[in-house]
Amino acid sequence: MNIHQKQKAPQFTEELRQYLLQVGIRETDLLKKLREQTASMPERNMQILPEQGQFLTMLVKIHNPKNILEIGTFTGYSSLCMALASPDVHITALDKNIEWTKIAKKYWQEAKVDNRIELIMGPAVESIKILPNQHFDLVFIDANKGDYLNYYEEGLRVLKPNGVLLVDNVLWKGRVIDSSYTDSSTNIIRELNTHIRNDPRVDICMVPIGDGITIVRKLVAEEGLEPPTPGL
Ligand code: CA
Repeated sequence: MNIHQKQKAPQFTEELRQYLLQVGIRETDLLKKLREQTASMPERNMQILPEQGQFLTMLVKIHNPKNILEIGTFTGYSSLCMALASPDVHITALDKNIEWTKIAKKYWQEAKVDNRIELIMGPAVESIKILPNQHFDLVFIDANKGDYLNYYEEGLRVLKPNGVLLVDNVLWKGRVIDSSYTDSSTNIIRELNTHIRNDPRVDICMVPIGDGITIVRKLVAEEGLEPPTPGL
């Protein structure tokens, strides 16, 4: 038996999640309103969960980033969380959908954070190319999975040393371990997860919150580029 199978994590049931939502988060009325509006849309599952919003909020408060890049904005819940977390935050938000970002802009205005969020419309894979090296303190990747490898590499390029990069949907509804899924999105997420695991340029922590978020910290030069220990 693999040594990691001997120690079990508690099973995270839906009932336990409901408890977490009751006592583990503080969602403002405006965030709740945005979530409720998005819930009526067919693409509602593209929105991060409220506990993930709280997670982003806390990360911003702890890490205190000045410049944030968000790849995939949708209706603006995650950007609103991050903008509300600190008055010092400036967000560059990438998305290509006019209908979704119209909703985002409405809520940014209502929260009076719209002056700190710059929306760049167009395919993120193109928009990101024009962004400068090592400009951002935090990068949040949550867009089309087909370009995830590209977003990761470009995200690291624009990230400052000691900066934090977050990747959403790394567990991909459990499909990452289900070999019956051979579609390109699932394969790309598997490939990216392994790539990040073996990337000597970063520290990593995969967190099973929502559909899974990997936290990556870009090493500073003095930390060297020692390869990580082999996978188990
Ligand atoms: Ca997502």
